[in-house]
Amino acid sequence: MKFRKVTAAAATAIVLSVTATACGGDDDKSSASGSGSGGGDKIKVGIKYDQPGLGLKEPDGTFSGFDVDVATYVAKELGYDADQIEFVETKTPDRENALKRGDVKFIAATYSINDERKKSVDFAGPYLLAHQDLLVKADSDITEATDLNDKNLCSVTGSTSAQNVKNDFAPKANLTERSGYSECISALQSGAVDALTTDDSILAGFAAQEQYKGQFKLLGLKLSNENYGIGVKKGDTETLNKINTALEKMVSDGAWEKAVKDNFGPANYKNEPAPKIGNIVK
Ligand code: GLU
Repeated sequence: MKFRKVTAAAATAIVLSVTATACGGDDDKSSASGSGSGGGDKIKVGIKYDQPGLGLKEPDGTFSGFDVDVATYVAKELGYDADQIEFVETKTPDRENALKRGDVKFIAATYSINDERKKSVDFAGPYLLAHQDLLVKADSDITEATDLNDKNLCSVTGSTSAQNVKNDFAPKANLTERSGYSECISALQSGAVDALTTDDSILAGFAAQEQYKGQFKLLGLKLSNENYGIGVKKGDTETLNKINTALEKMVSDGAWEKAVKDNFGPANYKNEPAPKIGNIVK
């Protein structure tokens, strides 16, 4: 009986997979998007949910931020209107796996391009150049990265910022790694940590939040170059090329500049000019 059950299940699986193939589907069809090449029902896009100005899920369930605007523009160029986008939270340490599993078609989530990540995913872009920086309390005497040694510092697990602290800037800092930047900002506010480190774009967005106004200062140290790319599944060259074309168009038709003003203006973040596609600043 048991054997027969398994056989029946296997037979169903074969029928299902044949049906999917007959409809012209591919691996991505069932999970990340309604159609491998765009124009389908829905597209799943990875963003951050807790980074004001970049990727934020608002209390009413809508999404805002520069990454959200970039993702929406790119999705449109892939054939999906805004109401066909399903945003999915992709936290810093989960991004590679989300792409590998096909949970999302692409990720626009302050995702720095680097060699380690390129082993498991491909990147379109870059579409923004940010820099690692430090956010401290307004009355803090920390002025540079070397002041962090022996101090309590917060960053996010799996981020380039956390790695840089350990490798380069402050190997003797007491680094706490959290799963998101919102947890770090609470720790900074309560005094549990002395500084929060990540990209200046993210820190500026937090510092400008109404509830934090006047409490923190951003040091403006430019500790690294963070070239934001759009992550796609390794080998998905078709999507990658289309995204690069979309990003070029976004810059040339002024939508990139508008997204910068709309999202970084309120935080008074002085962004770098639009990067050239394929030009990684080391
Ligand atoms: N851009 C950096 C990174 O990709 C830090 C921001 C983030 O955690 O998303 O690691």
